[in-house]
Amino acid sequence: LLSPDGELGVTIFEEMTTLAISTGAINLGQGFPDEDGPAEIKAAAQDAIAAGANQYAPGKGIPALREAVAAHQQRFYGLAPHPDTEILITTGATEAIAATLLALVQPGDEVLTFEPFYDSYGAIIGMAGARHVTAPLLAPDFLPDLAALEDAFSNRTKVVLLNNPHNPTGAVFPEHVLAKIVELAAKYGAVIVSDEVYEHLTFGVPHIPITSLPGAAERTITISSAGKTFSFTGWKIGWLSGPEHLVAAVRTVKQFLTYSSGTPFQSAIAVGLALPDEFYTGIAQTLRHKRDILAEGLRAAGFGVYNPRGTYFINVDTAPLGIRDSVDLARRLPGLVGVAAIPVPVFCHPEGAERTRSLLRFAFCKKIDVLEEAAARLATLK
Ligand code: PMP
Ligand code: GLN
Repeated sequence: LLSPDGELGVTIFEEMTTLAISTGAINLGQGFPDEDGPAEIKAAAQDAIAAGANQYAPGKGIPALREAVAAHQQRFYGLAPHPDTEILITTGATEAIAATLLALVQPGDEVLTFEPFYDSYGAIIGMAGARHVTAPLLAPDFLPDLAALEDAFSNRTKVVLLNNPHNPTGAVFPEHVLAKIVELAAKYGAVIVSDEVYEHLTFGVPHIPITSLPGAAERTITISSAGKTFSFTGWKIGWLSGPEHLVAAVRTVKQFLTYSSGTPFQSAIAVGLALPDEFYTGIAQTLRHKRDILAEGLRAAGFGVYNPRGTYFINVDTAPLGIRDSVDLARRLPGLVGVAAIPVPVFCHPEGAERTRSLLRFAFCKKIDVLEEAAARLATLK
């Protein structure tokens, strides 16, 4: 039996949110916004419920949402996935990741991720019985060393799973890094799985979907989610796209995980995806401003700050404050100053955990006065 005290125990997000609630701390740990997304998307969900869209959706997703995902990819990236065969709606990106790995990976295969890695990657790779190989992302820019990346590939590499923009570091991979990943995936016959849930949250740098690079599309599954772009993390609507044979394999697994995903929320997210460009630029601008406010506050509080180019997370180094162990600090911080954060080593294997031992992640998808209050509280640590 899996035990709450075992390796897969309770996720760090649940642990830190529970601690934030019990201590009354400001929760800059788990990444969720403290304001809901656009009113018209909410109204669309309410309308769909009132109109009776309350029974199972088709397993691959309602046509309106699959068409909206295709139109969104055309509008932003000039891509043209077929809504019937090359797109699958999932219960959040989390299910997309799980179904994809379970579909593609056999026991003994290797899955390569960057490190630090989002927590569900390690858990699902383990459940699939695969070996988890990592390539480090190193401070200050958290981009991979390309020679080390090549060393991490082998003939057993079945999947290279990347996350771009990257949680927890906030890195946005430039084109030459993506091109190297495509080159190595082709050389070793690996499928590329690209988790792009933060695709619209970049600050002054473009998001490049890896599937848009030459030679990538035929071997790439791209994953995204409504949670981050539209600030409805609780609705758990995600999607993936890729070549027909790969999407069909993932659809086969999805049938037996959830069968289908929340019907009225799918209608509402179809409305969201069609929002004008200003919505998308607006959310990035707002978050950039929030990033700058929190970064300034964290610097003033004495942390070493790594300014992210994407996502809604900032990493800091606690070493300048004389604090070496961010896991220990994260457990004490809510009681100490009334702020919760996530320690970066939990996104790593032991060697990576040692390398990131003094790194702590703060979420800045919060109201400005909340960020200012959190910064003021953190300043009392000095
Ligand atoms: N991938 C990454 C990198 C994430 O940060 C998250 C958290 N939102 C997810 C996947 C899961 O997304 P969802 O909530 O849509 O399942
Ligand atoms: N993606 C969110 C984060 O990184 C958390 C999602 C979750 O709790 N699983 O903070």
